[in-house]
Amino acid sequence: MASDYDLIVIGGGSGGLACSQRAAELGARTLLVEMGRLGGTCVNVGCVPKKVMWNAGELAHALRDAAGYGFDISLWRHDWPLLKQLRDEFIARINAIYQRNLDQRQVELLRGHARLKSAQSIQVGERVLSAGSIVLASGGRPIIPTLPGAELGISSDGFFELEQRPDSVAVVGAGYIAAELSGIFSALGSRTTVVLRHECVLRHFDSMLGDSLMEIMRDEGVEFATNAVPKSLARNAAGLLELTVEDGRVLGQYDALLWAIGRKPITTDMGLELAGVKLDWLGHVITDEWQQTNLEHLYALGDITARAGLTPVAIAAGRRLADRLFGGQKERKVDYENIPSVVFSHPPVGTVGLSEADARKRYGDAVKVFTSTFMPMYHVLTPRKPREHMKLVTVGPTQKIVGIHVIGEGADEMLQGFAVALRMGATKRDFDDTIAIHPTSAEEMVTMR
Ligand code: FAD
Ligand code: NDP
Repeated sequence: MASDYDLIVIGGGSGGLACSQRAAELGARTLLVEMGRLGGTCVNVGCVPKKVMWNAGELAHALRDAAGYGFDISLWRHDWPLLKQLRDEFIARINAIYQRNLDQRQVELLRGHARLKSAQSIQVGERVLSAGSIVLASGGRPIIPTLPGAELGISSDGFFELEQRPDSVAVVGAGYIAAELSGIFSALGSRTTVVLRHECVLRHFDSMLGDSLMEIMRDEGVEFATNAVPKSLARNAAGLLELTVEDGRVLGQYDALLWAIGRKPITTDMGLELAGVKLDWLGHVITDEWQQTNLEHLYALGDITARAGLTPVAIAAGRRLADRLFGGQKERKVDYENIPSVVFSHPPVGTVGLSEADARKRYGDAVKVFTSTFMPMYHVLTPRKPREHMKLVTVGPTQKIVGIHVIGEGADEMLQGFAVALRMGATKRDFDDTIAIHPTSAEEMVTMR
């Protein structure tokens, strides 16, 4: 029997939009099913509104720095509700643009919650629809721990709903979101405490990055509660939050507490188990390097798989899968090695490739590391003095570069080009032979000794 569509995509986030639009451009009859707002996590409660808030944080720092350049900035007031309103309007504009993009490419959009019936059919409400191929791209959601009172805290989704800036806030977690949102709160004036299970933030990155970030954040007034494993959360008589941790300490009091302890895939209540789709122990859909699930004609990509949970990764996986299915590009797939990423902390962190520790585990004594620590010229005149740190991890006699790590002003914009060099197999000699751009922070990358 003929299928209703060539392709059905479940989820209109980064990966699903990219996949469905590329497929339609290539002539496939495509249906996209979305139960929420177009753009998914990234556009609505992730990268985009986060970057707006990060920009606000950067401006707050710049206003304080301005005194060092002779400005008299005596008034300092920030209107959080206005920023939220402007940010929400910006996001609504993107939602509308995405709708128009789908229309232009003739991707049919069905609003509703999709359940898989088989590898080639889904159900949305009363409708059962079939396709030659189906792509699962339903993304993820924040993890809220199962502790007494945990519901009194908010997640990153709740961060974007805050109508007012909390005067005091705790952020529990040690990864991307904890580093980013605590930095924003602090820059915009909240008394901020980061609650860590261990001793350091960004523990899974090169150790230089987390250590330096903590030092800089401490200098800017952020507190860290270390070795603090959350046990329960309660609201006291004054209406403030108190976090009890395993060793008996009671942390607080806070106006708000934000859980940033990871995300889980949205793979429940979607008919996946019934259809026979294999999941890992955390609920991610298991796929091979071609985004293929264990069922023929059924694919999965983005945050529901256990691969790097980043927007460009989901987009690349979506487009390349469509290129393969409908564009005749049989070998097209994502290379999941050496994915660059930036943590939008204050200052930002940029990283690609292996950390020094991972490189030593893999290559032992063949590893040679080059580092540079310096005061960016911008900060020579500013009241605050965060230092910039860079590290190149190289391997073997040719000193092939296998890891690049930066923390400091400009790290976010600096890394993309260097990631290309690393991917192309650049050696330390290639970096040395590249003429520096002066005066910049990035020039340190090609002048390390
Ligand atoms: P999503 O974007 O989550 O989209 C999934 C969509 O599927 C959603 O719209 C959902 O409503 C829909 N859906 C789910 N189930 C169903 C169903 N059964 N039927 C119909 N529709 C369904 N990444 C970066 O690269 N850079 C950043 O700076 C960055 N910042 C981030 C900041 C935060 C606070 C967060 C939370 C994430 C951030 N990310 C960032 C990660 C990035 O947002 C995700 O990796 C990306 O959105 C994943 O895309 P996706 O298509 O897999 O899923
Ligand atoms: P992460 O996985 O990055 O970090 C969560 C960290 O929280 C863990 O590494 C762990 O660190 C700590 N943690 C875990 N469980 C607990 C617990 N029960 N109590 C206290 N701490 C705990 O998750 P995030 O939520 O920060 O972000 C989710 C994902 O979203 C990221 O991994 C990334 O893929 C994506 N993202 C990307 C961004 C970007 O590209 N800029 C920005 C934001 C999100 P430890 O083991 O050290 O305690």
